[in-house]
Amino acid sequence: MSDAARTCGPCSLCCTVLRVDELKKLGGVDCVHQRAEGGCGIHPTRPDICRAYSCLWLGGGLGDDDRPDRLGAVLDVVARGGEPWLDIREAQPGVFDTSERLQEIAAEFRVSMPVRIGDTASVLDADRAFRVLLPGGEERHVAGDTTIVRRDGQPDETLRLPLLERGLRRLRLRWQRWRLSDYRGR
Ligand code: SF4
Ligand code: SF4
Repeated sequence: MSDAARTCGPCSLCCTVLRVDELKKLGGVDCVHQRAEGGCGIHPTRPDICRAYSCLWLGGGLGDDDRPDRLGAVLDVVARGGEPWLDIREAQPGVFDTSERLQEIAAEFRVSMPVRIGDTASVLDADRAFRVLLPGGEERHVAGDTTIVRRDGQPDETLRLPLLERGLRRLRLRWQRWRLSDYRGR
């Protein structure tokens, strides 16, 4: 890792992958202000959320060559339930499975924190699947209210949210869909 402060350079992957409420833009769709050569067309007046955002690579948490546009995914360490998680957001579905480097990074981090792998396709689909890699080789494949737990690479257990939590989840998703209904996206 270099000591010099990093700059985004030609990368603007977070401007595609992340949701920007101020611009009513869903995750997974290019921002209207993205420039073809990289960077932001309204840099001096960009929304506060853009100003505040710094991905894990920009903050020095990954190797020099791991800039998100090269990896095909945006990585962040986020707090979830009071614990740190590594979030890997693929720019295209399936990138993780074809990238040795992303798999190496996930293997390094999963020793100390859960690693969540998701993509931005069908972000309004409540049952869009994602994966969580845990220490000790356990993987959780989550789709809707069902989780398949894999151990030693094999499906080992199927978990379903309790009835009340299923109902609350559906309500929460319906509210979220309504809140995002006029956002620009897929
Ligand atoms: S993903 Fe990271 S490096 Fe790329 S533009 Fe966003 S903050 Fe910069
Ligand atoms: S306003 Fe600029 S920094 Fe914010 S998402 Fe759009 S292009 Fe990126």
